[in-house]
Amino acid sequence: MIYLFCGILGGAILGAICVPLFRKEQTLESAIVEETEWDLLQRKKEVTLGNIQDLDFEYKCGKLSQEDYQKVRAEMSAEAAVVFQEIEHIESGADLDALIRREISARKNKARTAIPTTACSSCGSPNPLTNKFCVECGAKLKH
Ligand SMILES: [Zn+2]
Repeated sequence: MIYLFCGILGGAILGAICVPLFRKEQTLESAIVEETEWDLLQRKKEVTLGNIQDLDFEYKCGKLSQEDYQKVRAEMSAEAAVVFQEIEHIESGADLDALIRREISARKNKARTAIPTTACSSCGSPNPLTNKFCVECGAKLKH
């Protein structure tokens, strides 16, 4: 009887620990699935512009050499330009069929592979591998 009790208690504790983790993951996952390409681009735009802002700030603070700053700034600007172009393409409504096909295949890919992330060394937040700066605290990410 005591074993049964311990088993139930253990299970309950384990469940209490695991259920919120599982739930969080589930809502996160469904949020990703429900997100359209448009939402994704808007968020990407925010992150990219935020990263540029952070970079400018770091440069102003003297944390970066001019050479590093110009190199990274050029990469980020190119990244932002791509995002802006994609948004403009969607807004113009051109090639809607291709867009839908791409969206569907992107969703299929998303379901199969999780986005690779790296943990921020200063706050521990997961960041996409392509990010150069933490989306949470703005620290430079080391890959
Ligand atoms: Zn961080």
